[in-house]
Amino acid sequence: MLTTMTNHHKVIVIGSGPSGLTAALYSARANLNPLVIEGFEAGGQLMLTTEVENFPGFVDGVMGPELMDTIRKQAERFGTTYISQDVTDVDFTSRPFKISVGEDTYTADTVIVSTGASAKMLGLENEKRLMGRGVSTCATCDGAFFRDQELAVAGGGDSAVEEANFLTRFATTVNLVHRRDSLRASKIMQDRAMANPKIKFHWNSVIEDVLGEQSVRGLKIKDTVTGDTRELPLKGVFVAIGHTPNTSLFKDKLELDDAGYLVVGDKLTNDWDPKSPYATRTSVEGVFGAGDVVDHTYRQAITAAGMGCQSAIDAERWLETLGQ
Ligand code: NAP
Repeated sequence: MLTTMTNHHKVIVIGSGPSGLTAALYSARANLNPLVIEGFEAGGQLMLTTEVENFPGFVDGVMGPELMDTIRKQAERFGTTYISQDVTDVDFTSRPFKISVGEDTYTADTVIVSTGASAKMLGLENEKRLMGRGVSTCATCDGAFFRDQELAVAGGGDSAVEEANFLTRFATTVNLVHRRDSLRASKIMQDRAMANPKIKFHWNSVIEDVLGEQSVRGLKIKDTVTGDTRELPLKGVFVAIGHTPNTSLFKDKLELDDAGYLVVGDKLTNDWDPKSPYATRTSVEGVFGAGDVVDHTYRQAITAAGMGCQSAIDAERWLETLGQ
């Protein structure tokens, strides 16, 4: 590979959601001057969120992007530097580890992987074609474009219900289209949605097609019980059906589970030291993992931030054992 620039860091953090930025903050305060390769979609999933009411410290809640910007500046204050590009390759076969960003190569004594997870799509041809023209995965970004229009949200989890509630600020009606007859979302979110007169529930319903030429004009919906199909005229659909871990870069390089999530700590089968005290260790010694790229159970900003903190402490202690 062509190398036009070499730049060595003690700690490189890949990813800039709550886990990556918290890892950077802790590493920076330990005088490790971390480099965060934050990616083109810097800030992670909270950039696509509206109000965050459950991150401790904010009595009245905080907007997701504002929270991320604040943590980014906080880490910067202690010496974190940032690159707003995507990592294109990694080489963890020997130390220092090599990380490619296009034609530039960065080396690191330790790497913290916190690349998060990305929104899943329904997989329809027209969903892809009409993305940004009525199809969206981000109510915060696009909700305001649909003032006084009818909308739909696909999914039945917390994300779908949260997006539906948020979109009622703009929309005349929000159709929540869910493939089963009960929601997966938490009780408090369900209650809020059920009490919202602007949300209309379509149970046992799957979206078979997104209709429209230049922009969305409706959905074709199939009832999974009766097999009947019907058209729902509306202007926008927000897809909120879960996430996929961003681990394609690490395939065959770090141990991943069947769903593609990064395996860390005691769950490792390729463990370089089962007695190791580092809970965020990956299958490669010196590489640590944190946040939604690891965790498919809790997936909260605060748990991701907590794991980011753990990974930075692990990395710092591991560096100390090398005498660095
Ligand atoms: P999720 O909990 O995995 O829910 C995904 C939803 O989409 C499920 O209802 C699922 O249906 C449906 N779905 C999946 N694939 C589908 C497909 N191909 N076609 C149609 N429907 C499909 O994902 P999430 O809502 O994004 O939440 C992820 C995690 O983040 C959860 O732990 C959640 O509690 C958390 N979260 C919390 C908050 C909050 O507390 N404020 C907000 C957002 C998310 P089934 O139910 O039939 O499987």
